[in-house]
Amino acid sequence: MIGLISATAAGAAARDRLAAAWPDRTRVYEGPVGDAVRAAFAECEQLVCFLATGAVVRLVAPLLGDKASDPGVVCVDEGGRFAVSLVGGHGGGANELAERVGGLLGAVPVVTTATDAVGIPGLDTLGLPVEGDVAGVTRALLDGEPVVLDAEVAWPLPPVPFAAQGRTRSALDKQDTQDTQDTYTVRLTDRALEPADGEVLLRPPSLVVGVGASKGAPADEVLGLVEGALRDAGLSPRSVAGLATVEAKREEPGIVEAAGRLGVPVVTYSAGELAKVDVPNPSEAPLTAVGTPSVAEAAALAGGGELLVPKRKSERADGQPAMATCAVVRRPGRGRLAVVGLGPGARDLLTPRAKAELRRASVLVGLDQYVDQIRDLLRPGTRILESGLGAEEERARTAVAEARTGQAVALIGSGDAGVYAMASPALAEASDDIDVIGVPGVTAALAAGAILGAPLGHDHVSISLSDLHTPWEVIERRVRAAAEADIVVTFYNPRSRGRDWQLPKALAILAEHREPTTPVGVVRNASRPDESSRLTTLASLDPATVDMMTVVTVGNTATREIAGRMVTPRGYRWQEADR
Ligand code: SAH
Repeated sequence: MIGLISATAAGAAARDRLAAAWPDRTRVYEGPVGDAVRAAFAECEQLVCFLATGAVVRLVAPLLGDKASDPGVVCVDEGGRFAVSLVGGHGGGANELAERVGGLLGAVPVVTTATDAVGIPGLDTLGLPVEGDVAGVTRALLDGEPVVLDAEVAWPLPPVPFAAQGRTRSALDKQDTQDTQDTYTVRLTDRALEPADGEVLLRPPSLVVGVGASKGAPADEVLGLVEGALRDAGLSPRSVAGLATVEAKREEPGIVEAAGRLGVPVVTYSAGELAKVDVPNPSEAPLTAVGTPSVAEAAALAGGGELLVPKRKSERADGQPAMATCAVVRRPGRGRLAVVGLGPGARDLLTPRAKAELRRASVLVGLDQYVDQIRDLLRPGTRILESGLGAEEERARTAVAEARTGQAVALIGSGDAGVYAMASPALAEASDDIDVIGVPGVTAALAAGAILGAPLGHDHVSISLSDLHTPWEVIERRVRAAAEADIVVTFYNPRSRGRDWQLPKALAILAEHREPTTPVGVVRNASRPDESSRLTTLASLDPATVDMMTVVTVGNTATREIAGRMVTPRGYRWQEADR
């Protein structure tokens, strides 16, 4: 039972929400707060006090015995903003209760137990079906006891602080026959095993079942065939990613319903695609019916992988000819490469999606100074591969190679990782055997624009003045084109110690087409602690004040300085009429 205690009207309202959500597990203690806390402490396994932590500390201090038997106590503040796990974090379950109360009331759970606070993901939050001793293994992870990962199948898990991982298949098979259960284990497997004591099974969607069916094949026949094939091969139905078949059977009711009952999608391929797949058991029948010598095996193998169950036919109780075929393939694990833009620097310009991807990755690849920017957000167990300036090629290759081993990798870049950054070299290296997730970031040009005013209100372009990898002739041609087309230009990489003539040259080209009074915005370290910005003009910009931490935005012929801000008109007719 969870005892609920409150003192104020706001506390009582939050208390009543909790009581309404968990009517059978909560008891409201009315009356003077001190008496209520003492009674609840004696009678309940857990307490939620809608009171200040200080008040609760004073009330429970004389009641505390030992952490194995004391109730867990959670405090919720007057504003309902925080659910604080006060005592009994593990033994009393207060940490978990704080999470649940927080979830229900929209309060931030505050958990100060070291291992919880470091952000270990729950085994039941990894997005995979899970079986076995979740509570026990989670507790072991939280308590820092060794937990071994047995990954039979490569799968891009988020970081979990395993004591050891990456066992080979043969070592595992040996272990199956011995009882070596002296530690906690998380086993990533698609095999139909029963979890041992202290073991959690995670079910990766690694199996594809190819199915063929004659018109009108009953769903029971299809499902019975699939389940029988999995059972005989010792495979778990919870690892089935989908039923694969030929395009012509996309709507075949027996297949659609069998997939529905398994809770998986139907994936289809054209007969032409299937005809190209090499299969062990081709036959004439499907060739004449749908135009490919194999449906079940070819569809199962079309995405690559290892054939575990060759084509087999359904058996019918009435002795009639089989109406369904199936084959099972274990597909190769697909790694995950997230290309994550960190924004210009400030933490609150890092998007929530970027943050989530950083915590989702078990391997982080990036320039050391960008890693420093977000190191505190990473989960324990994240492998960090950082390198210095100039190692772009190595970073791109490393990120892709790690993803190809089945890991969840985040490749980071400042601003947007696709803008003068790592996304293009990495994706140029990547083949289609990994999943790529792009997370956009706030670019330096956008951050600078917001500081300057509204310089990018009409057509604009970014041009990098670095001629390290781009010949100067190409850069000059683009600057000239922008000048002639009267487009607002933001210069990236504008000037460094070794490259000092490019910026004056580029400005001179723009000056051939724009007045000397054209506004120019210079922003250094946008959104970083030492941010600075100034608004000047084409004629008076001193290039010596510009460095590699800076972007320079040059207005077009319509850009104006208005009240100290740089504004490029959007070109509305109603604004022209006002002039
Ligand atoms: N991917 C980044 C650009 C990387 S190129 C983006 O999307 O913004 C590096 C150049 O970006 C620097 O030389 C500088 O010109 C510019 N830059 C990056 N961050 C900046 C910031 N916070 N303030 C000003 N300029 C910045």
